[in-house]
Amino acid sequence: MTVEGYVAAQAAFIARNAQALPGRYAAVHPHEVARALEAYINHGRWLVDCPCGNGVMTAPGWPACCYSCGAIYRDVHISADADQIEALLSRRPIAHQNWKAGESLALLRAENVQHGISEEG
Ligand SMILES: [Zn+2]
Repeated sequence: MTVEGYVAAQAAFIARNAQALPGRYAAVHPHEVARALEAYINHGRWLVDCPCGNGVMTAPGWPACCYSCGAIYRDVHISADADQIEALLSRRPIAHQNWKAGESLALLRAENVQHGISEEG
């Protein structure tokens, strides 16, 4: 899938829901939002928090498209250490693959050691 394919999929989802659930989706339309959002990892997924209250999945190099309110965020800030963060978290069970902006690689390594998770892949 391409970025624009992802944006088109959001629009198609909202259009389908506007027909199926007009009371909920009639006023929802895809719209670009210039606001920057900081991404974090929860249960192994990159997410941003949309101001509407929805957690929106994203990934390095991808926008965040909110399927609840229609917002499209192209200015998603993901750590420059994303690859290393993902590598350290990938050794953990999914429920413990969590990271917040500002948490260091040293902290993730220390948490892994504390829980007996090997440095080796
Ligand atoms: Zn939203």
